[in-house]
Amino acid sequence: MHDIAIFRSLHRARFEAEPTLYVAPGRVNLIGEHTDYAEGFVMPAAIDFATLAGISPRADGKIALFSENYGEVRYFDAAELPAKAGKHWTDYPLGVISILAGEGHRVPGFSLSLWGDVPLGSGLSSSAAVEVATALAVTGLIGVNYPGPVLARLCQRAENEFVGANCGIMDQFISANGAKDHALLLDCRDLSFKLAPIPHNVALVIANTMVKHAITGGEYTSRRAEVEAACAVIASHRPGVKFLRDATVEDLEKWGPEMTPNSLKRARHVITENTRTVAAAEALINHNLAELGRLMAEAHWSYSQDFEASCEEADAMVALAQNLPGLIGARLTGGGFGGCTINLVEQDQAAAFVEGLGGLYAGQTGIVPQIHICHASGGAHRIE
Ligand code: ADP
Ligand code: MG
Repeated sequence: MHDIAIFRSLHRARFEAEPTLYVAPGRVNLIGEHTDYAEGFVMPAAIDFATLAGISPRADGKIALFSENYGEVRYFDAAELPAKAGKHWTDYPLGVISILAGEGHRVPGFSLSLWGDVPLGSGLSSSAAVEVATALAVTGLIGVNYPGPVLARLCQRAENEFVGANCGIMDQFISANGAKDHALLLDCRDLSFKLAPIPHNVALVIANTMVKHAITGGEYTSRRAEVEAACAVIASHRPGVKFLRDATVEDLEKWGPEMTPNSLKRARHVITENTRTVAAAEALINHNLAELGRLMAEAHWSYSQDFEASCEEADAMVALAQNLPGLIGARLTGGGFGGCTINLVEQDQAAAFVEGLGGLYAGQTGIVPQIHICHASGGAHRIE
């Protein structure tokens, strides 16, 4: 997280007012990929990269949005908010403000400063951090106090309905509800959740492959369609199955032959991933790190071979990590086709692990990766 005193003085200097400060973290998903829209389980953790928000009231009815990251301020009329996104960073805070207004809150004029150290667009959810920090700041200003899960849903709606990004609830949920030194097992069906402790001597090492293979958007849609087609086959025999969350590997054995080969593979990933994610939370709760590592490895190869959402570079990065001292478990995290791997590593080996993995990956691929040592941090809150 950036320096709070510096942030406070930046806001003061720009807006000549004392800000109230909030912070919301980015996140990494430890396990549970492409399970959210099957109403299944995910297990993210909030990380110690975060976005700061500072807010102070204004008397002129304007909303001033400033991002230190972009070095830019933009002004809007609180009584006449833009009705649609402008393909600009202000879409994220404006989306939150407009969703709050849509909930019937009268939004007054204010100055909002944002400053984050979550790497932008790297899959660590800087967007959710901005949304949740903004939501806390604005609701704090107008004296409304939403429970974390409700705040998360409002922020997800801001991203879906205003920004126009088709994301699930995970990012906003963990940013709003994360707990220090814990992962959070989230049931995407009813948003119930369970915290699972991450031992103090375990670091979350996030390694960026630095590749993001151009997917036209077609892959995401076709994977979803294949998953839904598999579900429809099972549901035709077992009407109680609404989503793959309700299906089992026995269902696949029985009715898999009625599916296309791809549909069967995608479904096998989703069904086994759900089971693995719940088992991974149990393993953490039981301090069984060896089992957690095994489940992460299994999850990676399921994602790579059955879901076919990995790539050569990510497979290499996960394979190279296996032989380094201190590794507990490694897998590709996020939507797929590149992005970051998450490596659970013994804390006292983390620095050597970063050096080792960086060297091996660069040697094999010719690409120098960015690697961050993170820890599970608390969810969004006001800074007193
Ligand atoms: P990710 O969430 O993986 O980082 P996204 O593309 O979903 O990637 O969100 C990144 C976008 O969020 C940025 O392009 C920018 O518009 C907005 N954003 C993130 N952090 C900030 C910030 N500190 N200030 C302003 N806008 C931000
Ligand atoms: Mg995002």
